[in-house]
Amino acid sequence: MPHSKGMRLRVNGIVQGVGFRPFIWRLATELKLTGRVFNDTGGVIVELNCSAAQAGEFAELMLQQLPPLARIDAMHQEALDLPVFSSFAIDVSQSGIVTTGCAPDAATCPDCLSELFQPGDRRYHYPFINCTNCGPRLSIIRQIPYDRASTTMVEFTLCAACQQEYDNPADRRFHAQPNACPDCGPHCWLETPGGEPVASETPFQALGEALRDGQIVAIKGIGGVT
Ligand SMILES: [Zn+2]
Ligand SMILES: [Zn+2]
Repeated sequence: MPHSKGMRLRVNGIVQGVGFRPFIWRLATELKLTGRVFNDTGGVIVELNCSAAQAGEFAELMLQQLPPLARIDAMHQEALDLPVFSSFAIDVSQSGIVTTGCAPDAATCPDCLSELFQPGDRRYHYPFINCTNCGPRLSIIRQIPYDRASTTMVEFTLCAACQQEYDNPADRRFHAQPNACPDCGPHCWLETPGGEPVASETPFQALGEALRDGQIVAIKGIGGVT
């Protein structure tokens, strides 16, 4: 592969699990820059076939348009020899000594809330709805880099519809690691302290009734027990 002068940006902060790589992909594609982005254990690395001035412009736009859950603590820019890439790609994560942080879990975002209460939506009343801008993060991660295989969601194989969202850079759920739906994701059910399932079509209503009756309940989500 031919090489030429390029730029590498190292970004540290809360940049994993917040839609940062898809965001970088969109920005680079919009600016018609080639290169790649990948997570490493220190944060995110962006490599661009471009001049220092173009990289500066890229960094400025990046800071202006950050995804809602992302936070940048430090950024370093260096010139180096890079392969000449034919497009901009999201590359595999690199492992090593962990120094990056992970985002905390985030409350359901307005877009997900409107789907949640939209009759006919495929996630209508689905309690585990989430997207790149909301949902569980820290409580489901087992190790960094933050990829689905490193989370408790690894046990749930994405259905075709969810996989399509996950793979589509234009979708709000592009690379959303906890992406799920009623067909492929976790379900909720009620059980007695002894582990006996309680038959109920509407577990949350039954839960409310149990609370009203003065019973004690524990709620276990994909991130742990409340
Ligand atoms: Zn959301
Ligand atoms: Zn699904």
